[in-house]
Amino acid sequence: MDDERPDLAELELAELESVVTTLGADRFHARQIFRWLHRRGRERFDGMTDLSRHLRARLDETCTIATPVVTSRERSSDGTQKFLFTLGDGRTIESVFIPDTPALTLCVSTQVGCAMRCGFCLTGQMGLARHLTAGEIAGQVRVLARELELQDTRFNIVLMGMGEPLHNYDATMKALRILAAPDGLALTPKRVTLSTVGLLPAMARLSEETWVPNLAVSLHATTDRVRHELIPTSRQQRLSDLITACRRFPLKHRDRITFEYVLLDGVNDTAADARRLARLLGGLRAKVNLLPLNEAPGIPFSRPSDEQVDRFARSLARSGVTVSVRKSRGRDIRAACGQLIVDGGPRAGSILI
Ligand code: SAH
Repeated sequence: MDDERPDLAELELAELESVVTTLGADRFHARQIFRWLHRRGRERFDGMTDLSRHLRARLDETCTIATPVVTSRERSSDGTQKFLFTLGDGRTIESVFIPDTPALTLCVSTQVGCAMRCGFCLTGQMGLARHLTAGEIAGQVRVLARELELQDTRFNIVLMGMGEPLHNYDATMKALRILAAPDGLALTPKRVTLSTVGLLPAMARLSEETWVPNLAVSLHATTDRVRHELIPTSRQQRLSDLITACRRFPLKHRDRITFEYVLLDGVNDTAADARRLARLLGGLRAKVNLLPLNEAPGIPFSRPSDEQVDRFARSLARSGVTVSVRKSRGRDIRAACGQLIVDGGPRAGSILI
C-alpha cells in the first residue's frame, strides 16, 4: 500500500480525466480507459488496444489498477457460487453469485468484517477489520461480471455481503456511481438493493442522493427491548424513530421498502410479534422478507420450524402485509445470509469455518 501511484479503479470518470490530462494526454482517453476497465473488465493497460503504445507505457509507469483477486470459488448444489477475494493488503472478503432469485444476483461486501455485531450473524462476530474502498467494492462486481460472463447481461446487485454499507457511506456511494456510469456497467438504481441495519443519519443522507438504490432495512424485532438485544448498535435508537425515517424515505412510483426480519425460534416469532409487525408497518409502502435463521456453531439462536415460519408469514399476509420467505441459498458452502466470515488477517486469507 506504499504505492503512491493513482489507482484508476478507484476513480469516477471526471477524476480519471484529470489524471489523464495531467499525463499530457487528451481527455477523451479517460473514457476509453473507463470503458475497458469497468465495462469490459480489462485490468492491464497493454490490453487497451485503442490507446497508443506510448500512452499505455506511460499509464503502466505512472498508474495502477487495484483488483481484488479471486482466490477460491465454491459451487453449491443449488447453483449458488461463493467467491473468496484477496485484497491488496492480503485481507479477504467474500461475494456470492445467486443465479435465480429469479434474476441473476451478485451479493457483494462493503467492509472486511462488520462493526454492528448482530447476535445472530457470523460476520458480526468477527468485528470490523476495515472499510473497503470504492475500487474494492466496485471491483468485486467488475471481476464477477467478467468471471461469470455477465457483462452483456442484466443482473442485480445486493449490498448484503460482509459489512454495513451505510457505515462505509462515501466509498459505497462512490462505488455505486462507478457501477452506474453509462460508460461502465450502466447499472440502474432499480437493480441495486442496499441493506442497512438502520443508521439514521446515513439514511437521511441517502434520501438526498440523486441516484438512490432500493432500500432494505434489517428490522428483526417488534419491540425496542428485543431489537436492542439482537442488534447492540441499535441501543441508542428507538424502533419508532427508525420507522419514521422509513416513512420519510423517498420512494418512486410503486417502489417499496423491504423490511428484513430474521426469524429466531422463541425470540421474535410469536403471534404477538406478527401482529405488532403488521401494526408497525401500517400505511408504509413496505414488503417483509422473512429470513429463517441460518444456524451456525457459535450462534446462540435456533431456526423456527417450517410450520412456525409459515404461520408467521400467513399471519402477516392476513393483516395485508406483502411477505416473502427468503429461500436460503448456498448453505452447503456457507454462502447464506450471515454466514460470510473469513480471516481478516493480512496474510491468512482462509475461510475459517
Ligand atoms: N449490514 C446490513 C447487511 C447484512 S446481510 C444489514 O444489517 O442489513 C443481509 C441480511 O442478512 C441482514 O438482514 C442480516 O441481518 C441478515 N442475517 C445476518 N445473519 C443471518 C443469519 N445467520 N441468518 C439469516 N439472516 C441473517
